[in-house]
Amino acid sequence: MAGERRLITALSRIFGPPPPRVLCGIGDDTAILAVEPEQELLWTIDALIEGVHFDLRYTPLRSLGWKSLAVNLSDIAAMGGEPQYALLALGWPPTRDLDQALELAQGMQDAAEEYGVTVIGGDTVAAPAGLTLSLTVIGQVRPGLALRRDGAQVGDEIYVTGPLGLAAAGLEVLRGGVELPKDRQDTVTAAFLRPRPQIAAGRLLAGQRLATAAIDLSDGVASDLEQVCLRSGVGAVLTMASLPIPQPVQEVASCLGLDPQDLALKGGEDYQLLFTVNPGKRAVLHLAFARAGLPAPTGIGSIVAGAGIRLRGAKGEQEIAGTGFDHFPDGGLRGD
Ligand SMILES: [Mg+2]
Repeated sequence: MAGERRLITALSRIFGPPPPRVLCGIGDDTAILAVEPEQELLWTIDALIEGVHFDLRYTPLRSLGWKSLAVNLSDIAAMGGEPQYALLALGWPPTRDLDQALELAQGMQDAAEEYGVTVIGGDTVAAPAGLTLSLTVIGQVRPGLALRRDGAQVGDEIYVTGPLGLAAAGLEVLRGGVELPKDRQDTVTAAFLRPRPQIAAGRLLAGQRLATAAIDLSDGVASDLEQVCLRSGVGAVLTMASLPIPQPVQEVASCLGLDPQDLALKGGEDYQLLFTVNPGKRAVLHLAFARAGLPAPTGIGSIVAGAGIRLRGAKGEQEIAGTGFDHFPDGGLRGD
């Protein structure tokens, strides 16, 4: 790529010098990491392609940088781990100004600093068809404590760490279909553009063995809970009245003529954690979150025998995931 060396120099300046446990960072053939004893490593990778996973017409590059790292950190959060390092493979369109690549990198570094992560290397290539990003994140967790998708038990309660549907509402606002008063508009667009991975909550759930299973909400409760149910060999019943659907989501839904619970359950990209807890641990769970200064998790239903996910409302029960369920059309930047 023209200017590649200049770009790499500028990128390494943005990503800054690595901490001492990184024996060698950007600039050699590979990075060298000192591995801490008594830890298991968590690895995750995500590929993001312009026009498929993000739309630069309403996504500022600095937000894209934040989000591309944040959604990977969210996967580490879902495992209950501590994220540590990131590697970036950047496909940059030759028609775009290199200064814009630095905006993207700055957004990534904003998230890296916020969550104590160091970008330790990567690669840059010319990508004439559009911007592509591939991010690898490495984290660690104490042996045997990682939260998995396959541990949910019949009778467990299902919780989420925060509100549902804000990112989906934000996407609708950014696409220009809906307008809200400025404060609420900012809330929903920030939820979509700058998601906050629930690392502290994940580490608490894993460290105190509070959850039997966990996943981060990238595709929406319906789809992500279905992954937990499939891996655990169970079904789930959700209670419509208990879903934490904030006011701006209700407003956006009403402007679009949608049910708010559709945005909440199928919209995706909230990057909250969904987790299951033995009902005997309910009090301990709430105490642990309060002591850690984290918002109280919201119980939204329970794990049942069988398969599929049903939503219990005033008019009875409806199936929202399982056989024959049709996923919401893909919207923005989604990961695993
Ligand atoms: Mg995930």
